[in-house]
Amino acid sequence: SNHLSDRIQKMSTSATLAMAAKARELRKEGKDIIGLSLGEPDFNIPDFIKEAAKKAIDENYSSYTPVDGYADLKKAISKKFKRDNDLDYTTSQIVVSTGAKQSLFNVAMVVLNPGDEVVLPAPYWVSYSDIVKLAEAVPVEVTTSIDTDFKMTPEQLEAAITPKTKMVWFSSPCNPSGSVYSETELKGLAEVLKKYPNIFVVSDEIYEHINFMGGHVSIAGVEGMYDRTITINGVSKAFAMTGWRIGYMGAPEWIAKGCTKLQGQVTSGANAIAQRAVIAALEAPKSKIQFMIDEFHQRRDLVLELLGEIKGFKLNVPEGAFYVFPDISDFFGKTLNGTKIDNASDFALYLLEHANVATVTGEAFGNPNCIRISYAASEKELREAISRISEVVN
Ligand code: PLP
Repeated sequence: SNHLSDRIQKMSTSATLAMAAKARELRKEGKDIIGLSLGEPDFNIPDFIKEAAKKAIDENYSSYTPVDGYADLKKAISKKFKRDNDLDYTTSQIVVSTGAKQSLFNVAMVVLNPGDEVVLPAPYWVSYSDIVKLAEAVPVEVTTSIDTDFKMTPEQLEAAITPKTKMVWFSSPCNPSGSVYSETELKGLAEVLKKYPNIFVVSDEIYEHINFMGGHVSIAGVEGMYDRTITINGVSKAFAMTGWRIGYMGAPEWIAKGCTKLQGQVTSGANAIAQRAVIAALEAPKSKIQFMIDEFHQRRDLVLELLGEIKGFKLNVPEGAFYVFPDISDFFGKTLNGTKIDNASDFALYLLEHANVATVTGEAFGNPNCIRISYAASEKELREAISRISEVVN
């Protein structure tokens, strides 16, 4: 209705969630849809985490929680930052939120003023641009392509900076491209930012553990960056806990305080039971989740091999996360089974309607030449889905 605020009218619906809803609809009509559109691990939560949650219920963890999270959870997060990332964040620099999505929203509302510019290397995670816009700031997309492995170069960053630039937001490993920034690459970006001391960086590291190359590097650890980096992380991806809704940040204390103030008026502290379970998750050795990472690695190789056989799919080798982001622009201008393909959205819709496979258009991630395919699905489903895709595009 036109009584909706300008704010909400200007906002787009999450394309990944919209695709999932569309797939559900078609399933209801009896279609056998394979869903490769969601960023959700298909594993069960490890038992030791479930046990911690059950124990929390029995121990009556049922009251409101501290707005910024339980003290012992924040301590566990502080230890995790040190152990995994060699970052020193005291508990007063940590805020626990209802998912990393809320952490990102908090940062936007706390740091950005109307008209501030936020550099987003594209492709970027769907919600970044809408969260930035909600804060009345302006997303400035930096277009990257498969030729640079979808990574922003220092030259591109420098060229995007204006006197209005307030922040740079990126994820590594990246959703949707799977690209991972190396230490050298992060140093290159930091070198540019040295010249602009008033620019802050959001480093979204939620896929940290799903990295097939080994070493994850946090930009907060690069010289000169610590005081102006907000490090975002969470348990949705590495621990298959998407529905538990716990994310967190490590940040300069003034930002953490601002986020706590905001959260105190909006959601209050995150869910009690979930927070108790996350303590167990974060204290566990990485070996407990290695099986998921190994499985994702195998599936990535399988998906690359099978998609690589389809003419018109240009692929890079994603080093992390659980997505491939093929460039399918070869199909633009062509007609497949009577359907004219003009852009990635047409292509994704074509795959849904003709192959019964749900993917997501790259347009939602700021790249109109690609589609995102999630391989958080069983090997059987992946084989079947890609064979169907192959049939309808040849
Ligand atoms: N950041 C990135 C890059 C993501 O892909 C996602 C989930 O899809 C999130 C943040 C949000 O995670 P959470 O479930 O913790 O809100």
